[in-house]
Amino acid sequence: MNRQAIANQQKSLVAIQLTLSGRVQGVGLRPAVARWAQKLNLAGQISNTTQGVELIVEGPADVVKRFEREFDAHLPNGACIEKSERELINVSALTGFEIIESETGGPLATQVPPDIAVCEECLSEIAKPEDPRFHYPITSCTNCGPRYSIIKSMPYERTQTSMSEFVLCSCCQAEYQSPDDRRFHAQTNACPECGPQIWCEDAMRRQVAHQGDAIKAAATALKQGQIVAMRGLGGYQLLVDATSELAVEKLRQRKQRYGKPLAIMVSSLSEAEKLVHLEDFERRELTSPAAPIILMHSRSNSRLADNINPGLNTLGVMLPTTPLHWLLLQHCSFPLVVTSANREGEPLAYQRKNMSKQLQSMADLWLEHDRPIERPIDDSVVRCMAGRRVTVRLARGLAPLPLELENNIPQIALGGHQKAAFALCNGRQSILGPHIGDLDCLTSCERYQEQLASLKQLYGVSNLSMVCDSHPDYFTTQWAARQSVPLETVQHHHAHIVAGMLEQGWLDRQVLGVAFDGTGWGDDKTIWGGEFLLSTATNYTRVAHLRPFSLPGGEPAIREPWRVAVSLVAQAVGKDAASHLNLKTESVEPLLKIMNSKHLSPQTTSAGRLFDGVAALVLGIEHCEYEGQAAMLLEAVCDPSDAGTYDISLQEGKPIQLDWRPLVSQILTDRDTGVPPAVMAMRFHRGLSRTIALLCSQFAPMSVVLGGGVFQNRCLVELLLEEFEQNKQPLGLPGMIPPNDGGLAAGQLAVAISRRKLKGADRCA
Ligand SMILES: [Zn+2]
Ligand SMILES: [Zn+2]
Repeated sequence: MNRQAIANQQKSLVAIQLTLSGRVQGVGLRPAVARWAQKLNLAGQISNTTQGVELIVEGPADVVKRFEREFDAHLPNGACIEKSERELINVSALTGFEIIESETGGPLATQVPPDIAVCEECLSEIAKPEDPRFHYPITSCTNCGPRYSIIKSMPYERTQTSMSEFVLCSCCQAEYQSPDDRRFHAQTNACPECGPQIWCEDAMRRQVAHQGDAIKAAATALKQGQIVAMRGLGGYQLLVDATSELAVEKLRQRKQRYGKPLAIMVSSLSEAEKLVHLEDFERRELTSPAAPIILMHSRSNSRLADNINPGLNTLGVMLPTTPLHWLLLQHCSFPLVVTSANREGEPLAYQRKNMSKQLQSMADLWLEHDRPIERPIDDSVVRCMAGRRVTVRLARGLAPLPLELENNIPQIALGGHQKAAFALCNGRQSILGPHIGDLDCLTSCERYQEQLASLKQLYGVSNLSMVCDSHPDYFTTQWAARQSVPLETVQHHHAHIVAGMLEQGWLDRQVLGVAFDGTGWGDDKTIWGGEFLLSTATNYTRVAHLRPFSLPGGEPAIREPWRVAVSLVAQAVGKDAASHLNLKTESVEPLLKIMNSKHLSPQTTSAGRLFDGVAALVLGIEHCEYEGQAAMLLEAVCDPSDAGTYDISLQEGKPIQLDWRPLVSQILTDRDTGVPPAVMAMRFHRGLSRTIALLCSQFAPMSVVLGGGVFQNRCLVELLLEEFEQNKQPLGLPGMIPPNDGGLAAGQLAVAISRRKLKGADRCA
């Protein structure tokens, strides 16, 4: 070629550089883009960086143009590009298209990929006897498999995951390098030759079976009613036959989880259908890549043991998350209880080292694999209501959750005390981290600190200013005060509302927030929990709340809802009526004596406690096994065909009070005339929703946001939605950010960032 020809060709060549951020790692984006570039014979390279993905393509101008035009159509399903920067760069005569090693360093701008449940294609491979991965329980591909739980550090590359210790065999390597293969650049690629292995150990921790035999041994143990501990994706799980009442009872005893419902895993949608009434929306969620536990309406005539979800009409069900779960279910002719391996209230166990003796003795058989778990993560729990997915527990497959916040103000939010989770902004992105647990024991508090350190390392930040709840007794508040970084607090219910505003994208407006939950520290040092807050992202005014009542005896009233019932009745109709309630075998006189002592019987406006008290009146519940149980039982019995309601009056004032006294006397009348509990429960839900809507309408057309654990109640939320549709007032329902305390950190982070922005703006003005 002469000089002129070369010059002409170079003139027509162009090179562009694209920087992509969003969900771009761990979703098979690099291989998909490489495949597309190679198809067009374009030269260039693509790499994961802490910013996201960086890509250079070089070739004839018209071909590069086509590459860009049809780019989106060639992206994998899981990818979501939030920002794309394009730059024309000098042609550098590259040959071929390569996926190159990642760069590291600095605050992470790209999203950390969540774990993805096993895909259909992988399942069909492990089901085929002629396939090299037949029955291989650690099978995955670019579309599925562990991500977050195995990542040591970002960017997402095999060398930075716990798969790094498994060297690819020549077949897997060939798949990894072949653009036409589903496992082209699959970082978790493995096969029986080169990948992690499974085996079984007995209760004495002696190896008793390997590979396929291990699964068979586990299935046999389950059939015999034994408890199997299985090393799952993000930690150990305890499994039993869900149709055996004895096995379930044994599990409850060993785990010390007495009343709380247990989740079920089934092999397929059709098996799920036998246990619950599936709606289309729920069907989609069950089979989604996150594959969470979904709380659904249970069938009364299923073969499940009665002690799975005592007293409830909802059941948590999930499909197999890994090929190991799937294979095990193929060997079982019954659904499995799948619950985290820990004693109730303690953090999820995920490492063999330091495993407590108590935990070691919990299982009869251990199903193990040798892929290290880097980051413990529980199963996610969601509930579908009003046609949307509401997160109850943000964990596997859903966390870390990207938050739409201004990302240039680094900050960490510490969450609350129950359902603790962090939210963080590292200056490049904001996220809500996975559920850690309740901070009531030392091991949970240790796990909390360990997770904070690990999250900071993952997101490339060191010392960050902190924001926490204003409750002086929370572990998080006290711990934060001991750190030598700037600290601010956010009122509990304001954080709930701002989390809801963030969910809706309403941080820029003033809303009326309805925060209904169990307990939160109020500005007047009483326990709040039935609050109407006129809120912006930085501040709030308490415009209304439930009429306060006393919790006789304090803390024990949470576990003994009859105490609340006595208090409500004494206030509504008098102590005489309260002493004749017959809610409890022993006399209530001592309780009535301490009721007016502010010291012994703290005042509260908590909606959660109002539910407890009403549940005690309607259902005669004396004792609760877990927080929220009384409210769940009350929701479960509701008879939706009843159109009646109870009255809550609005007492004008600043703030307005929602006076529940008429409601309580109506319940007493209904009790006396033998109205069925299902009807009373429904009337209570309807009365509450009507009053909420009525109060909100006084602020119309202002948007309303719901926050707090009470709004996990599907019956209440759907009634509210009906009321609001009539009023035509915008209502922001919970969604991806949990409405319970698991979402608190997201709200705290949004408040802290908004306050900082406001200060910055003031300084400029
Ligand atoms: Zn797959
Ligand atoms: Zn291999």
